Amino acid sequence: MQRVDVVVVGGGVMGSAAAWELARRGRDVVLLERFGAGHANGASHGASRIYRTTYGQPECLDLAQEALGLWRELESESGLDILTLTGGVSHGAPRRDDIAAAFEARGVPYEWLHPDAAAERWPGLRFEGAVLHEPSTAGRVHADRAVEAFQLVAGDHGAQVRHDAPVHSIVPVPGGVRVSSDAGEFLAERVVLAAGGWVNRFLGLELPVVVTQEQPAHFQLRAGAPGEDTWPSFTHSPSPDLLGPGRTWPAEAYGMATPGEGIKVGLHGVGVVTDPDQRTFLAEPERLAELQRYVEQWVPGVDPDDLVPVSCTYTTTPDEDFVLDRVGRVVVAAGFSGHGFKFGPAIGRVLADLAGEAPDAPVGGAGPRFALGRFAG
Ligand SMILES: Cc1cc2nc3c(=O)[nH]c(=O)nc-3n(C[C@H](O)[C@H](O)[C@H](O)COP(=O)(O)OP(=O)(O)OC[C@H]3O[C@@H](n4cnc5c(N)ncnc54)[C@H](O)[C@@H]3O)c2cc1C
Repeated sequence: MQRVDVVVVGGGVMGSAAAWELARRGRDVVLLERFGAGHANGASHGASRIYRTTYGQPECLDLAQEALGLWRELESESGLDILTLTGGVSHGAPRRDDIAAAFEARGVPYEWLHPDAAAERWPGLRFEGAVLHEPSTAGRVHADRAVEAFQLVAGDHGAQVRHDAPVHSIVPVPGGVRVSSDAGEFLAERVVLAAGGWVNRFLGLELPVVVTQEQPAHFQLRAGAPGEDTWPSFTHSPSPDLLGPGRTWPAEAYGMATPGEGIKVGLHGVGVVTDPDQRTFLAEPERLAELQRYVEQWVPGVDPDDLVPVSCTYTTTPDEDFVLDRVGRVVVAAGFSGHGFKFGPAIGRVLADLAGEAPDAPVGGAGPRFALGRFAG
C-alpha cells in the first residue's frame, strides 16, 4: 500500500485543477482517472466552454474573477493557450440589474446596449431587450487543453497522474483513507472526490444530483456571416411572450465560437436523465429540433440545418450551486450543474484549502452556498 498525502479521484477539470494546486503547494499527490487522457465520457471534454463573470451572487463572481488570474498562471506554467477573451453578451428577460449591480460593486467594466445597437455590432445574433455587454472579462476556455495543462503542470510539481485507473472504493480507516484502484492501493491523508456524475458511487453518498446527457451542437456559419473570431460568448433567457401562443423555450440558451468547428449553441439543462455508464451519446431528436428552432430565430449568422451535435453530461443540484465540502478526510467536489468549467482553477484552490483542514474541524465547506448540509431536511 502506497502512502500519500492526497489521492484525487477523477481527472476531469475539477480533479485536475485540485491536483495542480495541491502539488504546487508541495503535497504528495496521486490523481486517479478511470478513463484515458482526453476521454469524452464525462463533462470536461471538447474545445470550448464559456468563461464569463455574469453572476449576481458575490461568492460566484469572486470565484470567476479569481479564476481569470489563475487561468493565466496555468497558461504561463504550461505554455498552452487556454483562455481567449472575446467579450460576452447577456440578454433576454428579465433584465439582470442584479448582475450589473454586482459588476459595479466589484469594478467589472460593462455597458448596457440597445438590442439594435448590439445586432449591428454582432450581426450573427438577434437580441431581446437590453443587452449586458462584458467587454473584457468573458470569452472561452479551451476545455481539453485546460485539463491537459492542469495534469501536465501537476506532474511537473511532482504529482503522479494515472489514467485508465478506475477507483473501486474509498474507505476511511484510522489515521487515513484507503483507496483501492486498478493502479494499486493507497493510504491517503486526504482524498479529493471529483468524480462528476459518478459521485454517489462512493462513501454511500446520496447527493441530490441529477445526471443528464446534454446536447449542444456546432453550427456552421452562413455565407457572408461574421467570422468565428468576431463572435462574443453569449447567454440568452428568452422571454415566453416573444414566442407566440403555446410556445416556450425550456431554458436559457448559450453559445460561443469554437474555432474550426463553428458556433456552439446549446439550451441549458434540457437533456434526458441518464446513467453515465449507459449513455447513448446520441442526440435526442425532439431536443435537437428545439435547438434548431432556437437557432433559426435567434442566431441568424449560422445555418440551423448544418450542425454537428455534441454529447456531454451535467450533474445538477437542486439549486444549481456546487458542492464544495468535506466529509471527514474526504473533500467532495460535485454538482457543477453545467456551469462549472470557467471556475476550474479557483475550485482547485478551494479544494486544496479544504484538503488542508483538520479532519475533525467543523464541516461547512467553502461557505453555506456550497455546503453539503444545505440539502439536509
Ligand atoms: C454541454 C456542456 C456545456 C457546458 N458549458 C459550459 C460553459 O460554457 N461554461 C462553463 O463554465 N461550464 C460549462 N459546462 C460545465 C462544465 O463542463 C462542468 O461543470 C465541468 O466539466 C465538470 O467537471 P468535473 O470535473 O466535475 O466532472 P467530469 O469532467 O465528469 O470529471 C469527473 C471525472 O471523474 C472520473 N471518474 C468517475 N468515476 C471514477 C472512478 N471510479 N475512478 C476514477 N475516476 C473516475 C470520470 O472518468 C471523469 O473524468 C458545460 C457542460 C456541458 C456538459
